[in-house]
Amino acid sequence: MSKCDYHEIKNILDSGEVIVISSHVAPDGDNIGSMLGLGLSLISAGKSVFMINQDEVPSDYMFLKGVEKILKYEDIEDFDSINPDAVILLDTSSIERVGKKLEDVYNNISCPIINIDHHRTNTNFGAVNCVEHTSATGELVYKIITNLGLPMNKEIASAIYVAINTDTGRFQYDSVDSNTHVIAANLISLGVEAGKINTELYQNISIKRQTLHNKVLGNTEYYEDNKIAVALVTLDLMKETDTKTEDTEGLVETLRNIAPVEVAVLIKEKACGEYKISIRTKSYADASVICSKFNGGGHIKAAGCTIFSDLNNAKNLIIKAVKDEINEKRCSGN
Ligand code: AMP
Ligand code: MN
Ligand code: MN
Repeated sequence: MSKCDYHEIKNILDSGEVIVISSHVAPDGDNIGSMLGLGLSLISAGKSVFMINQDEVPSDYMFLKGVEKILKYEDIEDFDSINPDAVILLDTSSIERVGKKLEDVYNNISCPIINIDHHRTNTNFGAVNCVEHTSATGELVYKIITNLGLPMNKEIASAIYVAINTDTGRFQYDSVDSNTHVIAANLISLGVEAGKINTELYQNISIKRQTLHNKVLGNTEYYEDNKIAVALVTLDLMKETDTKTEDTEGLVETLRNIAPVEVAVLIKEKACGEYKISIRTKSYADASVICSKFNGGGHIKAAGCTIFSDLNNAKNLIIKAVKDEINEKRCSGN
């Protein structure tokens, strides 16, 4: 953890004109909400801001005002001509998490990188590191905007509200403390329409996505006395249901909701021999310990990694790692 030094961030932002903001591959709500919240605020402060991700914004977040300002790296004609005075990486535990192309750019960039994140596995890669174990990166964005006296309005507040709401599973995880609720209350005072946003986020599932979920959940396998639930999303099934990666959102949490399940595992086929694993845990198992074994990372109760192997082997490897973690924690009395 590296506590946020607001003066350091202020000095860099004050002396710069052009700011680039990015976040991790396969964007989630904290990624998009944090980028948009900080990006819109810096635009209102008169900065020239470029919000750039490797992957496109998932349809779930397209309702946010200003979200079209978040561009895909591929769509930028000439990144070199942007010539930023600072790069801000949000919700990104290591530089490689931005994706290969942006990683190459940021590894060779001469301006300072400001690293703002809440992952325990953050590598402190920035010239400035604001890494605190808040419930969402959105909380850190809120604190930076308020501490630096940057502009705030309903649109900015709504983006930050989405970041916090989604990364806390709608304010239900242990990572939520009184501060999280105070921030949410302040955002609502600024005009955030919480009910409307929750309808947009959670009562808006396409039939295609629901069909995918039904099929995937219908084939769930259970191990270790139902403590482990494993489900698989293949490329064939996504083709059959005409769905995209973003349509797998929520599946692994649904598996964890099942009473005896301590560890939920979702295996997503990315390409032949490449499997993205999402892990969610309930009470005592540490998801980041499991995923660290495969070069991944994340939080105690939510983590991810990629295994390069055939399906059978990938599945066996991850199940073995999950069993080891469950048994280790059980033996140590947790
Ligand atoms: P996911 O299962 O992809 O939704 O990710 C759960 C959490 O783990 C999120 O906070 C991610 O940022 C983090 N995470 C996922 N994959 C990785 C990875 N390969 N390396 C580090 N952190 C990851
Ligand atoms: Mn994220
Ligand atoms: Mn996050």
